[in-house]
Amino acid sequence: MVRDKRLARILVVEDNALNIKLFCDLLAAHGHETEAVTDSREALASARAFGPDLVITDIQLPHITGLELMGLLRGDPDLKDVPIMAVTAYSAPGDDERIRAAGAQAYVSKPISVAKFAQTVEALLTPAEDAAQQEPEPESGTGAAAGAQTPGTDAQADPGSSPG
Ligand code: MN
Repeated sequence: MVRDKRLARILVVEDNALNIKLFCDLLAAHGHETEAVTDSREALASARAFGPDLVITDIQLPHITGLELMGLLRGDPDLKDVPIMAVTAYSAPGDDERIRAAGAQAYVSKPISVAKFAQTVEALLTPAEDAAQQEPEPESGTGAAAGAQTPGTDAQADPGSSPG
């Protein structure tokens, strides 16, 4: 089933009330339906019930950290393929690898850039087929000119007459 990416269901796991409001308002402004979870111990059950197209999770969470939650999501047969975007306030060298290894496709640093946040969400919601349809720049009409500049070629081997 193809779901309109503008009408995605997004689960937001974040223990900070202001961030929850910021993220959910931002996502709603882009037409998304959100469900907020402040207690990460409830996140897996909420994800199972909500069936999100994307999970956005804070990394610094009490009880179950964002990294642990990603492991739980990746271990769930129904949720293992749902894209995950991590949000973290502390970014140290190696964090990118650690967060991606835990199962996130992308991560955004807090305080978030609204544009970067929205961009990353849309990128994760865009199916790969859509991205593939964005063809590279077509070759400009320089082929003939380039061919004309090629020095005379005395073809030593004519592929048409190569011996069997
Ligand atoms: Mn937090």
